[in-house]
Amino acid sequence: MLVNGVNLLQVARENQFAVPAFNISDYAMMKGIFEISEETNSPLIIAIHPDELRHTGAEMMPAVIQRAHRSSVPVTIHFDHGTTYEQILWAIQTGFTSLMFDGSMLPFDENIAQTRRASDAAHAVGLSVEGELGTIGKTDGEAEDGAATIVYTDPDDAVHFVEQTQVDSLAVAIGTCHGIYPPWMKPELKLDLLKDIKSRIDAPLVLHGGSGNPDSEIAESVVLGINKINISSDIKVAYHDKMREVLQDTGLREPNSIQPPCIAAMQETAAFKIDLFEAAGKAMHY
Ligand SMILES: [Zn+2]
Repeated sequence: MLVNGVNLLQVARENQFAVPAFNISDYAMMKGIFEISEETNSPLIIAIHPDELRHTGAEMMPAVIQRAHRSSVPVTIHFDHGTTYEQILWAIQTGFTSLMFDGSMLPFDENIAQTRRASDAAHAVGLSVEGELGTIGKTDGEAEDGAATIVYTDPDDAVHFVEQTQVDSLAVAIGTCHGIYPPWMKPELKLDLLKDIKSRIDAPLVLHGGSGNPDSEIAESVVLGINKINISSDIKVAYHDKMREVLQDTGLREPNSIQPPCIAAMQETAAFKIDLFEAAGKAMHY
């Protein structure tokens, strides 16, 4: 079933798990992610970034919506990292059930003003909104936009931001980066900062860029109150690493011969994340 982002995350908050938000960029990935979520009985957020929507064409959305409607698990279709008001309207028109407005690169007051505008538009049509405060770093050229270094979320600012913007969930910067970490970089989450923010904010908290952080820290962040974790790079690496291997056989031509083992590799990574986030079996709470 297709559900609103608020309802999806509220149950996660009450039952202390995080819903995985998997970024998908094509039909085969989309289908594979639905299937592994159903197999593990995990609630699901299908995340689509504006670049991904441009890549697939907005015409793919009716297929995603239809698949969500007949899914055995609760699904939210989430517009990931909208950065302009026009993009938010585009997402509403296209049929997303949850939106993110990312004003984290803007000055604080401007972030509040623009997020509030997006939030008003989304709430007017019954959709939920995620805002972002602090900036999540970016580790490589292939990653989503982000600052070169992490600007940690200030807890006082976070309280003020949620009040002023009326967002339904908040992405916090506590030490993750978009993309894959280079070998010399040792990512570390500031779990005390997370505890502090969590104690002051009721809205579900979101972690972006969790690819490559130590599993133990991610698991701890779920215990401490993260209710949505975005996973993009990790599943795409699994998918394309397998594809490079499969394509060693130059005789292969048909996507239906090439893609299935790649989807299976991606699903293995997705299933691992689902377990790590304590989301397996949690569809029963809806
Ligand atoms: Zn992100």
